[in-house]
Amino acid sequence: MLFRLPSLRAWPSQCLICHAWPARTLCADCVARFAAPTRRCDACALPVPAGVTRCGACLREPPPFDRCRVAVAYAWPWVGCVARFKFQQDPGLAPALAELLAAAPDVADELAQAPLVLPMPLSAERLAERGYNPAQLLAERLAPGRTRPDLLLRVRHGTPQRGLTRAERLRNVRGAFALDARHAGALQAQRVVLVDDVMTTGASLAEAARALRTAGVAHITALAFARTDPS
Ligand SMILES: [Zn+2]
Ligand SMILES: [Zn+2]
Repeated sequence: MLFRLPSLRAWPSQCLICHAWPARTLCADCVARFAAPTRRCDACALPVPAGVTRCGACLREPPPFDRCRVAVAYAWPWVGCVARFKFQQDPGLAPALAELLAAAPDVADELAQAPLVLPMPLSAERLAERGYNPAQLLAERLAPGRTRPDLLLRVRHGTPQRGLTRAERLRNVRGAFALDARHAGALQAQRVVLVDDVMTTGASLAEAARALRTAGVAHITALAFARTDPS
């Protein structure tokens, strides 16, 4: 018989950031301090000044998704939290991170309007290596019962995107995504939310969105827990 141990983080424990105890995984003080909503571009989620809805780059060349929302800047202290979630094998952080993403401006609305929520896929090879897809864990918390990891597939994993320039990232992800032909019909004229853990330049999300557009998706909202902001 198989037992799945409940995640320790489901119980009141220590705040991951300030180590307050007992506290939630991310305590209210740390959330207020480090996850305060920032004014961001409607289309790419980069910070914009007051009164601006779309950044200049998105006005010149709109990204292939319609909207983009993120919870936090990919900077201290979130880099450590995400590393723990993604690379140090702590899938138990998914509920806390998803909760923060769900509370970001407009995210609940975007999720409510989309019948399909698609996690950014890992290649079979990467999935085997890591044991789980962090984006899928987030998506499943955000939209239980509406998360479809079977539609969008990663057919190729180039060099890991970390450490690459924007141009290299764009080249690296070209043609990396495909749709499962058996289910692609489900996407026709649909509204979907695409979920990732970290958005750096947005190259992967954009490439995935292009594949979805080709399959006839009508509206795409990209969600990521954290976004790298220009320094
Ligand atoms: Zn704290
Ligand atoms: Zn923008």
